[in-house]
Amino acid sequence: MASFRALVLHEVGGKVTPYVQDVDDAHLPEGEVTVAVEYSTLNYKDGMILQGIGRLVRAYPHVPGIDFAGTVERSESPGFNPGDKVVLTGWRVGETQWGGYAERARVRADYLVPLPNGLSTRQAMAIGTAGFTAMLAVIALEKHGLEAGGEVLVTGAAGGVGSVAVALLAELGHRITASTGRAELKGYLEGLGAGEIVDRSAFSTAPARPLDRERWDGAIDAVGGTTLATILSQLKYRASVAACGLAGGSDLPTTVIPFLLRGVNLLGIDSVMCPKWPRINAWQRLARDLPLDKLDAMTEEVPLSRVAELAPRILTGAVRGRTVIDVKR
Ligand code: NDP
Repeated sequence: MASFRALVLHEVGGKVTPYVQDVDDAHLPEGEVTVAVEYSTLNYKDGMILQGIGRLVRAYPHVPGIDFAGTVERSESPGFNPGDKVVLTGWRVGETQWGGYAERARVRADYLVPLPNGLSTRQAMAIGTAGFTAMLAVIALEKHGLEAGGEVLVTGAAGGVGSVAVALLAELGHRITASTGRAELKGYLEGLGAGEIVDRSAFSTAPARPLDRERWDGAIDAVGGTTLATILSQLKYRASVAACGLAGGSDLPTTVIPFLLRGVNLLGIDSVMCPKWPRINAWQRLARDLPLDKLDAMTEEVPLSRVAELAPRILTGAVRGRTVIDVKR
């Protein structure tokens, strides 16, 4: 019987522990398409799953990894043939189903996106869920009227969503203010295209009044909590913020005043269940609009055997940019 190498989470005595081990093909889940995985990635949610936080995984042993990219090995779907290059993000793969921290994965055909022309499987995973989310946020802001040249705030800027958002927005001709807690990464963020850097402490207390000076034509927020509340109080008339994350908290201590007096928009971004056509469109946009030299500059590659070490670091905001995982090492 064939087997493949995977990072497997076991729950022993209430504690989740990762092991890199060989797994029989017979244990692969149901699905129409079997993929030889080449790369996966580390996202904030992967950090939670690797640490057993948030009850995202209900059954162990479990293969985590919410993203993967690779080559179709076998397909029972007319949509895919052996040899096709594919990308998967979301759909709760790596949570309720086995994921991408393995040399082989099996999923439903409609979860897969054809790898866009111009991207390698490694570059697709340098983008991963975080970069895909940043693209969805940019598209949402555009749909709500953001035009080139706008003053756009990106929070959690040195993280995965933030780094891709800065690079994309700069390429699209916006003026970017990057909020970060890591002053030492000023040069990194400027290299991605940020014009101004602000310390995240500027957003760390609830706004003193419901309306502050109008500053932003748009914002992409990975932080939530008082940060998102402060952004709402500073959006220009009819401007929008795309809310992507909760790295700083899941509460939202705001009032309805910015909505009523400035007509601002709070746009929710979900990458996990994003339907097929907006998903394919976002990947096409990433292939077109994300400068690959900047993607390279924000990406570190690690072997599968080291990914568990990085889990606590991404949860404390200590990982810079994006992390690609080579599942063969
Ligand atoms: P990262 O850990 O890579 O980035 C998060 C960044 O947030 C950190 O790098 C740090 O940036 C900042 N940060 C961390 N802790 C705090 C804090 N306590 N207060 C303020 N800022 C903080 O994660 P990702 O970029 O992968 O994900 C970011 C968020 O987006 C997460 O909450 C994640 O769950 C969410 N997410 C949501 C998705 C969706 O579909 N809606 C999809 C993907 C992610 P800096 O050092 O620059 O301050």
